[in-house]
Amino acid sequence: MSIVFIALGSNLGDRLANLKNARQALAEHPRITVMDSSQIYETEPYGNVDQDDFLNAAVKIETDLSPQELLACIQQIEADLGRKRLIHWGPRTIDLDILLFDNLQIQAENLTIPHAELTKRSFVLVPLKDIYNQKIFGKDLVEWINISGNAEKVRGSDLEW
Ligand code: ATP
Ligand code: CA
Ligand code: CA
Repeated sequence: MSIVFIALGSNLGDRLANLKNARQALAEHPRITVMDSSQIYETEPYGNVDQDDFLNAAVKIETDLSPQELLACIQQIEADLGRKRLIHWGPRTIDLDILLFDNLQIQAENLTIPHAELTKRSFVLVPLKDIYNQKIFGKDLVEWINISGNAEKVRGSDLEW
């Protein structure tokens, strides 16, 4: 069994329902157990694309799927929840990214683990910190959050799973 951390993000449609439906879909997969979930955060979008704020969260799962099998699985869930790839980094009903997969390091054409932007994005690091307390590349998540310099864009919320 592997322990995997997945980031969830949504800024289109019923954002909270999208996060819940995505976690539910993971939980219903016969080869995935959802072990833990972060709080739900609200984040101003980065970049130049004019779009609504995101909801962001992270979950910890246990699975015997391979990394590639899990990637296919999360892409199927994204498709089932109506994600259309219109604008890169643009609005999306749901985005699921594999952040960490045990201690594996993978550089495949379609899959980079740890996620390539993990240490730079506070909207990923802040939720992950709720459920992960080890170092990544030798630094605590708090250190990476400070280095990222964009933590002020990530706000706690009262939203419940
Ligand atoms: P970003 O990757 O910068 O967060 P994005 O999530 O908007 O951007 P997508 O359109 O969702 O980008 O995905 C683009 C491709 O990223 C996917 O087709 C997938 O093959 C690839 N990918 C590489 N590494 C990962 C990973 N760790 N988790 C999910 N997808 C990944
Ligand atoms: Ca992403
Ligand atoms: Ca993605």
